Amino acid sequence: MSVYMEQPAVRVEGLTRTYAAGDQTVTALAGVDATFARGTFTAVMGPSGSGKSTLLQAAAGLDRPTAGRAWIGDTELSRLSETALTKLRRDRIGFVFQAYNFINALTVEENIVLPMRLSGARPDRRWLAHVVERVGLGARLRHRPAQLSGGQQQRVAIARALAMRPDVIFADEPTGALDTGTAAEVLALLRAIVDEHAQTVVMVTHDPVAASYADRVVVLADGRIVADMPQPGADRIAEHLASLGRAGRVG
Ligand code: ADP
Ligand code: MG
Repeated sequence: MSVYMEQPAVRVEGLTRTYAAGDQTVTALAGVDATFARGTFTAVMGPSGSGKSTLLQAAAGLDRPTAGRAWIGDTELSRLSETALTKLRRDRIGFVFQAYNFINALTVEENIVLPMRLSGARPDRRWLAHVVERVGLGARLRHRPAQLSGGQQQRVAIARALAMRPDVIFADEPTGALDTGTAAEVLALLRAIVDEHAQTVVMVTHDPVAASYADRVVVLADGRIVADMPQPGADRIAEHLASLGRAGRVG
């Protein structure tokens, strides 16, 4: 453990998000407090509809919470204008989703640097070369995304998320569409990024094996954190999720 790990990369306090659905109110997040330390890999789990994606989106400034606050490093997101928030997202946050949203008219390389180009930032060529090598895409840079396998596409998405050297990477079910072997490669890559570059990764997953790559597992149910486990094995995670199911919280 080095000292940087004590610095929060992400913090949320009393994070609450409700949605109006007709004359009903859906509470997606019901007051979540959490800190994600720099250089750590956290898995966020919980039943479908428990608020995992909402938590990621609010923590990443993609969505404004109904109440509560979120910080990236020392920056409190609710204090930022839309323009400043957009800039913060581009400069300091990387996203990896199950849907890649590539532009197939562009090459793999062009897709990786597109967010930087949009933000007007100049790519750091040495860092990009390192990222491309690290994710094993060197021979694919001139291909179109659609010519790649699912695992290769997810690695392009990770390279794109890393291109700006973000403070934190949020990944929402990044291995949900991948077969077991390909998922293992992608998870090993995320693990390596955390270990080699003190990257912070917060990843939503349904899979206890995927979660076992993380340093910590946070479990949500009904918009609240119901468990926070340091390095549980896949067996303990599966057991915990099953106990949530038995308590009738799934659905
Ligand atoms: P998870 O990612 O854990 O499956 P979500 O964060 O997507 O859960 O959703 C949490 C709850 O909020 C669910 O009940 C969902 O239906 C609701 N919800 C999410 N987004 C919206 C939205 N845009 N409008 C209305 N309800 C939403
Ligand atoms: Mg979700």
